[in-house]
Order: sequence, then C-alpha cells, then structure tokens
Amino acid sequence: MKKINKVLGLLLIVLLVTGVWGTTALAATVNDDQTITLKIIHTNDIHSRYTYSAQNNTLGFAKLKTIINQETPDLVVDAGDIFHGQSFATIENGGSIAELMAAVGYDAMAPGNHDFNYGSARLLQLGTMANTKILANNVTYSESGNLFFSDDYLIKEIVVADEVIKIGVFGLISPDIYSDTAPANVAGLSFGTQESVIATAQQAVAALEAQDCDVIVALTHIGDSDNGTLMRSDAIAEGAPGIDVIVDGHTHDVENRDVNGTLIVQTGCYFGAVGEVEITLKNDLALAARIDSAEAANIGVVPAEATAEIIATEIPAEVISSEDDILAENLIAEINTEAAPLDDDALVAAVADIQTDQAAVSYTVVSKTETLTTVAQATDDVIPADPTVAALTAAIEAREDPIKKQVVGNTPVKLGGSTDNIWQDVRLGELNLGRALSDSYRFVTGAEIAAENAGGIRAQIPAGDINKGQVIDVLPFGNYLVTKSVSGADIKKMLETSIEIGINNQIANDKNDNSWPGNSGSYLQWSGITAQYDLAKPIGQRVFSARVGGVDLDPNRSYTIACNNYLATSSDYPGLKTAAIINEYSACDEAFISYLQNAGHDRFMAAINNANVTKGTAPQPASNPQPAQSAQKKSANNPRTGYGPWPWTMMLRSVAYLAVW
Ligand SMILES: [Zn+2]
Repeated sequence: MKKINKVLGLLLIVLLVTGVWGTTALAATVNDDQTITLKIIHTNDIHSRYTYSAQNNTLGFAKLKTIINQETPDLVVDAGDIFHGQSFATIENGGSIAELMAAVGYDAMAPGNHDFNYGSARLLQLGTMANTKILANNVTYSESGNLFFSDDYLIKEIVVADEVIKIGVFGLISPDIYSDTAPANVAGLSFGTQESVIATAQQAVAALEAQDCDVIVALTHIGDSDNGTLMRSDAIAEGAPGIDVIVDGHTHDVENRDVNGTLIVQTGCYFGAVGEVEITLKNDLALAARIDSAEAANIGVVPAEATAEIIATEIPAEVISSEDDILAENLIAEINTEAAPLDDDALVAAVADIQTDQAAVSYTVVSKTETLTTVAQATDDVIPADPTVAALTAAIEAREDPIKKQVVGNTPVKLGGSTDNIWQDVRLGELNLGRALSDSYRFVTGAEIAAENAGGIRAQIPAGDINKGQVIDVLPFGNYLVTKSVSGADIKKMLETSIEIGINNQIANDKNDNSWPGNSGSYLQWSGITAQYDLAKPIGQRVFSARVGGVDLDPNRSYTIACNNYLATSSDYPGLKTAAIINEYSACDEAFISYLQNAGHDRFMAAINNANVTKGTAPQPASNPQPAQSAQKKSANNPRTGYGPWPWTMMLRSVAYLAVW
C-alpha cells in the first residue's frame, strides 16, 4: 500500500500472468465494485472459559467454530491468556485448551502472561498441540538474544479471483508483565523494554513489507491501560506506522478505535464476545483507473498512448521472454483500457521492482471495520454449537470429571467477596476466602504468619460442598508454598505496602476506568497476624498496632512467614524477597485441600469469621488521650469488614512500641 505511486497496474498484470504463487483456499470475497474483503476472527483473554454459558457470559469454542464455518475468515487469531485460568485447563496443564484450539483452527496467537504459567517449555508444547503459531517478536533468550518462539512471522497467502493477497502477522507481549508469572516460568527469557518493543515492532513491519505483505496484523498482549506507566498498544500504533490492525489483549477491554491509521481491537475477556475485522482492499490497477485528470496531474500520470512505448522500451526482454509478444500485447491492452498509466520514472521503478522483487505490494487497504458477536447474540438458532467441537469438549470434561468432582470439604457460607467479581473484591479488602487460604498455609507449614497475594486468588466458592475442581479454580497457578524468616520490621513494612496498594486499588475502582495499578494483585490477605491502621496517617506510618500470636510484633525479632513461591519473589516486598527460603512445601491447592480435610471445623470457622487487618483510628499521644468511646465509634465503621473496636488498653500499649519504629 505504501508503493501506490510507484507500482501500479503493470506490475500486477505481470505477476498475475507469470503466476508466482501457488493456490490456497478461497475465502476472501470480491465485492461488486471489484474491491476485496478479508475477514479476521479474533479472541483474547479467554482464560480457559471453554464452553457456552449464557449465565456466565461465555461463548465457548464450539460456537466459535460455527462462527468460523459461517464467516469463512481468512485469519483466526488469539491475543493471549487462553491456556490457563480454570481447572478444566490446569488439570491438564493447558492441554485441554490446546486440543480445542486445534479443533477450532487458529492460525496464530500472541502469548499472554498467564500462558507462561506452566513454564515456558510447556508453552512451546501447547503451541504445537494447538497447531497454532505462537508469535512474540520481543520474547528472546536473554543470553543469545535469539527468538524464543520458533516462528517470527506468519505470512498467509489468500487467493481470491485469481489474485493473491498476503497477510503478514507478528506478535508482541507487554514488557511490563514479565514478572506477572513465577520467575521460574520465564527464567532465561527477556521481554525487552517499552522502548525496545517499539523498535521490535518497527523491524517487524519493515520485514513484512519487504516480503510484500498487503495487510499487516500485530497480535499484542499489551492492552489499553490508563495507568500512566504501563505500556499501551497505542504506543505500538504510534511508534511503528504501517500496521493495519492491532489485535489486542491483556486489559480485558472492548477496544475498537483508530490510532495513527491503525485499527486497534480487543473483545473484552472470558469469551464474552468474538471479534471480526473486515478489511477491504482495492488493487492498485483499479485505483489507478479511478484517478481523474486533476489527480493525475498531481502524481505525474502520462497519457496512455505514451505508455505502450515505455513498456516496449523499458521492460527487459528476459522478464517477458517466456510469454513473448502475447504478454506484451496483453499488458499494453490492459493498461490502455483499464488504467491511467504510470509516468516514466514510476514505470522504470516498477520494472526494477519486477526484476528484483516480483511479489511487490499491489493492494491498498481502503476500509477496516470491527464487529463483535456477543454471547447474547449467539443463541442456538443463530449460532448452534459445532457438533464436532461440542463432542470433543464433552469428551475432555468426561475424562476430567472424576478428579474435579471429588468433594474435599464444606463451607456454610460463600467464600468470596460482596459481589461476584472476585478479581475486584480480593484487591479491595480482606475476604473470608483470603483468610482461610492463608490459614491453610500456616496449617501446612507451621509458620507464624502467612500471606496470599490477591492476584493469586482467581475464583470464589459458593456455600455447600467444596470439590477439588473448585479449589483449583481458586488457585489455578500451580504455585507451591515456601517459608521464609522475615524481621518484624519488614513484616510491618509489608502491612504498610499492602495497605497502600489497597488504597490505590480502591481509587482505581472508584474511577471505574483502566487505571488499576500494575501491582494491584500484590494486595495481601493475611493469617496469624492482627493489625490496625489509620488512613489519616501518612504513607508508611499507618499501622499503629500489630500482634502475632497475641503478642505485639517485635521489629527486631524474626518471624516465619508462609506464602506462595510467586509472592516470595515480589519486588513489592523487598524484605520478603531478599529473605532466604527456609523450606519448600506442597502446591497451594493441595495445602488448602489438606486444611479443609484435616484442620477441623472450628479452626476453619475462626479463620473465615475473624478479621486480621482492620481500619481504625490511631490513639492520640498519651498526654492528651481521647475518650475511648470516640475511638471505638470510628474504628467500627468499615462496612466491608465490620470488625470490632480496638481495645483502649491495647492502644496505649501500641503507642509505646510505635516509638521503637
Ligand atoms: Zn494478560
């Protein structure tokens, strides 16, 4: 499309006659006005929601297959975070999802951060099982700098009405989310920097243009964050011009916008919709034919009669020798009847292109539109489930069923937050589920304190019997427990940091935009420690009371803390990160199951009912004490947790030890 003034109809005709490409399936459509429409079907952030459910707003792979059968797209892609998220996927380390992807017929995907959750080696296997190219041009081996995934690009050749259109696809993952998976999962790999990723995108565009792609698609697991510091897909559109469509993912947004001439699309998340981009192209011959005389003057088009002479003199004999005079005559006839011809210089350039680069760009994108098919629209009469994919889905469910259905415990109340949005609830406050999980980590390890990061908790559990599948849905990462020895002073810093993250999460939630902090998932759910904090106090000085085992936290003493191996390396908690590992234990889901089966009802109920870290009012200096009643009133006003007042005697004691910090 960039070569429009240089390579016109002549070149197109030569290419068609000489037939430099083989044939592939016809999918694109030729419209009445001779334009050609290509279709791209795309998904993102499915997080293993594999099946159709109107109630859960998931469309599922069987209906996606039907959409593909109905629409006959030229390209089917996913923008990442597909292999992981629910027990259906994790029981088989993503293999179940890969099988369904292969049945659906994806061409390519960008890897999401969660796609690395089974380790980078497993992700390579999953790509093979899914028969889908995984594309991420910025994921390299740290040492060699070589690409980690085996393909740098997908170039798909579409034959339509005897013409060939090349779609070039490359992929990117945000460099900001390198640490959004356990370090072992991405060990030895680099995701680059925000700057280097833009340079990588520029190189990819140049490489695909050099291979004469008519349409360039970027698969990006980057997203539409309004955080202000995290990379946005806009930066790719602005920094690497020439991309026709960015199929985006990661931030779970619905995107459909033009940035710097690039269409950026994203479908939301959890299979709530399937996207379809229609790209309409006009070949340059047809475009040239439409140029009126005024435009022709601007770009230096010469009269048709002159063209025959130029062709006769400028095209080297070897180019047309095999076709002899018939080809030359055809060329001249075509150009004279259908197109405003090239000027002299352009024709010479075109001839040079023929000699050096037979597959030159010869189409122009004239429009791009995005349409979503939502779950509500995908009713059985309009989009019935594809029987083959439905049968495969049922077969996978059947083989997993005995594992998932095993009852491992019971809860008299829902374990979760005040809404059905666990992702949000667990980042905004302490939940009974978070306390129970953390208590299970102490139960299994014997640690004094335990913490679980909000990002590690991915589902809630309704009241009633708890089965193994539900536990895996809550803790799908396959993380394992570690214990570390951390000073009381560092534990206090962890409390302060988590409180600050929670405040920033609340601000983002109140704004209801995409400004969630990058570390929103580092908000902590605790066990084994009780603490109170005062939001009127400055950052880092809000915790005015902390007790472990009923005794005030001693900043100079070391405490054993249990947490998952991911949190143990979090840069949000340097004191925890740098502490040496004392011991490693079983997987987190196994720990919770053991707790449900062995810790006893009383301990479980105490954990879910008793708040640990609560809002309050710091006591005034002892010289000017406030009435206890007033302090109690303020400390009891947290509607989310609703815990009891801070005893006055304890406040006085906390004043004393606060001086130590
Ligand atoms: Zn993601």
